[in-house]
Amino acid sequence: MPLITFPRMLVTPAVALLSLGLVSAAQTPLPTASASDRAEARAIFKELIEINTTDTPKGSVTAATEAMQKRFLDAGFPASDLHLLGPDPRKQNLVVWYHAAGQPTEKPVLFLCHIDVVQALRSDWHTDPFEFVEKDGYYYGRGTQDMKESDAALVATFLRLHREGYKPKRDLILALTADEEGGKFNGASWLVQNHRDLVDAAFVINPDAGGIELDDGRAMIADVEATEKVYSDFQVTAYDRGGHSSLPRPDNAIYELMHALDKLATYSFPFELNEVTRTYFTNLAKRESGETAADIRAILATPPDLAAAARLSADPSYNSNFRTTCVATRLSGGHANNALPQTAQANVNCRIFPGHSPEEIRQQLVALFADPALSVKYVSDAGVVSDTAPDRKAMAPPTPIKAVFDPLTRITQAIWPGTPVTPVMENGASDSIYFAQAGIPCYGYSAIALERDDDRAHGQDERLPIESYWKSLDFFYSFAKALGDE
Ligand SMILES: [Zn+2]
Repeated sequence: MPLITFPRMLVTPAVALLSLGLVSAAQTPLPTASASDRAEARAIFKELIEINTTDTPKGSVTAATEAMQKRFLDAGFPASDLHLLGPDPRKQNLVVWYHAAGQPTEKPVLFLCHIDVVQALRSDWHTDPFEFVEKDGYYYGRGTQDMKESDAALVATFLRLHREGYKPKRDLILALTADEEGGKFNGASWLVQNHRDLVDAAFVINPDAGGIELDDGRAMIADVEATEKVYSDFQVTAYDRGGHSSLPRPDNAIYELMHALDKLATYSFPFELNEVTRTYFTNLAKRESGETAADIRAILATPPDLAAAARLSADPSYNSNFRTTCVATRLSGGHANNALPQTAQANVNCRIFPGHSPEEIRQQLVALFADPALSVKYVSDAGVVSDTAPDRKAMAPPTPIKAVFDPLTRITQAIWPGTPVTPVMENGASDSIYFAQAGIPCYGYSAIALERDDDRAHGQDERLPIESYWKSLDFFYSFAKALGDE
């Protein structure tokens, strides 16, 4: 799950909707899941949490996708509409097709859901992370926020629609995929590259991003991810001839590396805005007051007031929305206590602003360090180190599609009345990037409501309010139907 670190401020519904060119829809009561629908959805959620899908020897994505495949088969889905496939026996993805009744009116809709989770240790938790525990109004377990809750809600939704005999006008696709969180077999990337026909869609809904922010139980804002930064790791290495530590010299690999990192510590990449962040900050300025509001207005001016940007950048969440960021995250060096180091190495993790490529940033790091004795290499998601980085740029913000935002806004506001819907830029990264690169617009929306201070994705004692799960079920049921009816 990409971490949302966007400044979280209320934007008035009218402002947010106007910014999208939308009008507020009338609020009609939505169908809600029955007790038996909920029981099934809970059982699916429990089953998924209790199958370990970490990228570790104990984990198997295939065990989870096979379990879901069995549920679809048992429910009467044709075997030919259930595609279990992948480049590794333990990393099989499941692609489910729910076909239109007749000739489809539009290209399919793809719901993209990663089914792997981040490692969790029993010793770090108060409960067993791979046991589905219901306690104090919450479901606990690894993946309850990221993102088995949406995997389960969408499996349950597809099964319910099928049970009710729902006939969409276009095909609906659900992809449960491997290795979003890590590992060498990213399912989204692999499917786009090797089975484009199975995942080709008019647009992608990725519940691994966005969602409803709660403040003391009150829904404040619904974030829809419309663009995101690109994640990149760089391996920075200093080399030296080494020697006996009783004979130190000025040249020293650890010192060389330290000088480079010192430059990085004080460097800021240039300030930037794009369509999405400009809209967000325009809305934000209307809700803020005092110097902050004045500074936000100043950065929106042409040319932007860079002194105001610098003041706002003291807040890490503003800073990360203004620019590419690079930060040292790991360090190693030397080979013995009594030897001069021959190498010293750091990992520099960058979150690249849309419009720039990893190679462009790598070259900027090389220029910043200005030390020919240092190497700056790219580290791929699979851990492969190379001299140069890819030229791919972050996904450009797609224009909000009315066919997506109209029902999304209407259904969100029926469940969480008065909650404004606004596009945001994610500072993390998700699998949407692979589809965006293939020219398919992606929207990140989880329909999960979480307290702003209770984001436990990737962390200890991950949990989801039970009520939030029921609401997401109701959301996806109505949303899938609305998209299917177009
Ligand atoms: Zn995730």
